[in-house]
Amino acid sequence: MKPLIGVLPLYDKEKDSIWMLPGYLDGILEAGGFPVILPLSSGVEEIEQAAETCAGFLFTGGQDLAPILYGRERSDAVGEICEARDRLELGLLREVIAREKPVFGICRGIQLINVAFGGTLCQDIPSLWDTQVVHAQKPPYDEPAHRITILPDTPLSALWNCGEAQVNSYHHQCIQTLGEGLAPMAYAPDGMVEAVFHPAQRFLWAVQWHPEFLFRTDQKQRMLFEAFLKACR
Ligand code: MN
Repeated sequence: MKPLIGVLPLYDKEKDSIWMLPGYLDGILEAGGFPVILPLSSGVEEIEQAAETCAGFLFTGGQDLAPILYGRERSDAVGEICEARDRLELGLLREVIAREKPVFGICRGIQLINVAFGGTLCQDIPSLWDTQVVHAQKPPYDEPAHRITILPDTPLSALWNCGEAQVNSYHHQCIQTLGEGLAPMAYAPDGMVEAVFHPAQRFLWAVQWHPEFLFRTDQKQRMLFEAFLKACR
């Protein structure tokens, strides 16, 4: 049996519906896992059952986190938020970490993990961060948008065996101050944190870019899903 991977659902406010981009599921499938989209429920029993049942967890992209979660006033530039997802994800992450199960975060996922560990976010890159780097590229999303520098002596450096790479980029928020216990693995040329891990956890990795759009054409991005699945087996 392939390991079950709990995938945090995307939420469509207009349709009041959960949904999923196929890339997240295909990335897991092709790396040897069986993805399961979790319900948007933050009930204690549901969260505990999800944490018990699945072998690993993919925290996906999506809405902005409510700034109150990192102790900030909401700036006008904050986009749509989804409090139900915030509750589910913060509750689930706590239970998953208590069980030392693997976690992989993408885009909103890195931001959620950072906030869960007490970090803060930049609420809007265009209005608050002086940078020339394109972090909100136009489609297609399977093309590179900017360079990243990979820190030596990190799991990402060991996996890719290189010091630089090109990634896509589709985010208007990012890590401002790093959560306690998290360590950076990669930076954009403007100093933005693009990847983190938790050295005390077996596998807790997160990236600000979108490997789910890249893994078919970029072997490095495929390796991210494979490393995650290896930890889940
Ligand atoms: Mn970026």
